[in-house]
Amino acid sequence: MADPVAGVLSTPGERRAALVPAGVDALRGAGLRVLVERGAGAGARYTDRDYTGHGAATASRDEVLAADLVLCVTRPPAADLARLGPGQTLVGLLRPAEDPGPLRAAAEAGATLAALEGVPRTLGRAQAMDALSSQASVAGYKAVIEAARAYDGYLPLLMTAAGVARPARLLVLGAGVAGLQAIATAHRLGAVVTGYDVRPEAREEIASVGASVLEAEGLDRGMDAAGQGGYARALTGDERAAQRAALAGAASGFDIAVCAALVPAGPPPLLLTAEAVDRMRPGAVVVDLAAGPRGGNAEPSVPGRRIQTEGGVTVIGAGELAATVPRAASEAYSRNITALVAHLLDGGRVAVDLEEEIQAGVVAAHGGRALHPALAGAPEPPAQGAATAAGTGEDHGSP
Ligand code: NAD
Repeated sequence: MADPVAGVLSTPGERRAALVPAGVDALRGAGLRVLVERGAGAGARYTDRDYTGHGAATASRDEVLAADLVLCVTRPPAADLARLGPGQTLVGLLRPAEDPGPLRAAAEAGATLAALEGVPRTLGRAQAMDALSSQASVAGYKAVIEAARAYDGYLPLLMTAAGVARPARLLVLGAGVAGLQAIATAHRLGAVVTGYDVRPEAREEIASVGASVLEAEGLDRGMDAAGQGGYARALTGDERAAQRAALAGAASGFDIAVCAALVPAGPPPLLLTAEAVDRMRPGAVVVDLAAGPRGGNAEPSVPGRRIQTEGGVTVIGAGELAATVPRAASEAYSRNITALVAHLLDGGRVAVDLEEEIQAGVVAAHGGRALHPALAGAPEPPAQGAATAAGTGEDHGSP
């Protein structure tokens, strides 16, 4: 029997590569033949020759879509999903909870869907597969770089012959993987950093990476909103109102806010209202890593756009920042996906075992059966407050 084939597929508009050339060695070592769609690494500046140098073959998109394992970063378009069928496994950040229709069609056609979002993140042996963490870390880093670029002052305290420039005061809302990386990056750049989170464990981590924990009037410093699996739970209506009011009071004390708060499955919590952003000084910057189709953490943020409010605050809707550091993000993602593929294989073939913890989390559909609740038709949780565009709407292009 011929060796099973892993195909590396690009996603239109996506600069990250699902596999970097060094990752070809890992897959070949696991008994797979590797096909790479021509140009699939171009966004991260890997040439086809880089891949063939590691023993992969280049192929057309059609050939890759016929592979036993199809590897992608973000979900391929519906027309590609419609090509998948029995005996094939699609692996990537598939976002099964968002617009599940096209994935459901692939599931019904018999394809196995392995969504990296489902990797159990607190399980030690799954850490190498944790693409949400690897990409969040890249995004947290880049959020601070974007903020520094848009900011009209220095981040560090600078003593020059012309006098002392005070450091920027930077607030990070949501201290998960992205938020903690943002804190660490801003700290290295010399900003005075304050962090905030609703989980006590996260507040301890804020302190451990050199930031202070936000204290503000009306803010419940002892709040414990830890939910399942290390994530936060959605706040109640009263908690949300109190939090927004307190943050609106605190926001004016900061030059830069990096927003990185999420709750599982639901839309991102709205933390900085338009009023809170209005209270920030002209020239202040908000980078909203949560900005996406279901809202964001900052009310004025618009996904993929940089706007300036009438009050002169730059608000960057930066939901997809990891893709803007494509080389580092691809290297990390490639390690995640090869670790997961190796885990799914038995004797060189995908062997689904839904009793096994990692597979139970990752396999969203198998054997014609939808397993992820969103694919099986479960309703989405209600919105927590939609973000609306505000300000001048000036488009500075994608961040
Ligand atoms: P996430 O992206 O879901 O959320 C980011 C942060 O937002 C979280 O810290 C959350 O508490 C916070 N948040 C949610 N609602 C908020 C609100 N209303 N106000 C302020 N903050 C709010 O989280 P994540 O970065 O994906 O990490 C989730 C958890 O998984 C964390 O506990 C993390 O430590 C854990 N984790 C563990 C491992 C491991 O053990 N190996 C690996 C990765 C992540």
